[in-house]
Amino acid sequence: MTYNQQDSLALLEQIRWGGKPRCPYCDSTNATAYKHERRYHCNKCFTSYSVTVGTLFHKTHVKLQKWFLAIRLVMNSPGGISVRQLAKEIGVNKNTACYMMARIRKGMAEEQELIEVLTKLDEL
Ligand SMILES: [Zn+2]
Repeated sequence: MTYNQQDSLALLEQIRWGGKPRCPYCDSTNATAYKHERRYHCNKCFTSYSVTVGTLFHKTHVKLQKWFLAIRLVMNSPGGISVRQLAKEIGVNKNTACYMMARIRKGMAEEQELIEVLTKLDEL
């Protein structure tokens, strides 16, 4: 099964929120969904957010499904995976792969639970 960006966001929402949007800034669940993108407007603090705020995926231009694949590759390679190999596997340039690897390593320490769930996902 191939996940597109929307599916990946929905999946991440399920993992992080159990499907119910929660504002990362004020913790309110009183939110209004945007019509044309998977974002939410908080009715308490009036900011807008998506599920990636506060995760290692925040403010990156790399598609989520590439992130998910990268996480699995990094986590499931006992001997470690090289930046070059990662770049080739997910189809990004070396700079991007290097940056992603650094974020994933940081995530392994700070967002362990999320990384673990994503590692256990079946083929995306
Ligand atoms: Zn809020």
